[in-house]
Amino acid sequence: MRCAWRKRPEFLREMSWWKNLFSGRPATPVPAEPIPLPPAVIDESAKPGLPPERPLAELQGLIRSFARPAWLPLTVDADHGALASKFGGLGLVSASHPGPVCPGCQQPMPLFVQLNPADLPAEMAPRLQGQLLQLYYCPNECDDGFLPFSSSSVVRLVPPAEPPAAGAVAESLPAKTIVGWRAVADYPHWEEWPTIGLTLTLDEGVRLEQESAEPLLPAHQDKLGGWPHWVQAPDYPACPECHEPMQVLFQLTSEEHLPYMFGDVGTGHISQCARHLPVLAFGWACH
Ligand SMILES: [Zn+2]
Ligand SMILES: [Zn+2]
Repeated sequence: MRCAWRKRPEFLREMSWWKNLFSGRPATPVPAEPIPLPPAVIDESAKPGLPPERPLAELQGLIRSFARPAWLPLTVDADHGALASKFGGLGLVSASHPGPVCPGCQQPMPLFVQLNPADLPAEMAPRLQGQLLQLYYCPNECDDGFLPFSSSSVVRLVPPAEPPAAGAVAESLPAKTIVGWRAVADYPHWEEWPTIGLTLTLDEGVRLEQESAEPLLPAHQDKLGGWPHWVQAPDYPACPECHEPMQVLFQLTSEEHLPYMFGDVGTGHISQCARHLPVLAFGWACH
């Protein structure tokens, strides 16, 4: 499973180790085998004797220039019906979009998330094209459910105007209806800094981590929009139609609003192609 192939130490511990190494402090345990620098901190200016320190405010300004809005869901412990935005509960099913059945175990899949564009912030609603976004997921994970486009998950857009249909439904997870959103500023994961053109030295990364009153990192919570919190490396799925990296639309963590654990406290992402909005995928990774 994706969790097992690579362990990633905490950012602070990793950065501090390198800081100590470069600052020449004695008694720092140095591994016998060379360890490659994390990609975000490969920068020649990290070496001693090169450019003077930039002020903390300048570093914070650099990160803040990449801020994106994210929205944290506000919920109540209830199911407000087939058209509600929610975690768990029962999603809208219709003649054209019956409740999905896992091809592996032949069991109806429970609804994990449903989003109604009428409930979304104006910035995000157009991405659903007037339809309900639904994530169904097989808890048996019959087909490597952590992989985007696995048959263990179904992510789809469903027209809300169609009359609901009766039929086999999965036993639902406890419903939490989304009754509002709290907007927050969200910042890119440090592993994305090099690819988006944010080059900070090793020491600068450590100073931000240690001295900044704000974390200036992606929120590690269930959220709409924003920057993904990557448990492992950044991993945007490629759209099967245009082969471009897809965008993360929604982040789903373990056991926050949904009583479900993705592997070892994993974090999942619903992704969408910016050009082909009906192309959606769900994948997750864990420690
Ligand atoms: Zn299954
Ligand atoms: Zn595409």
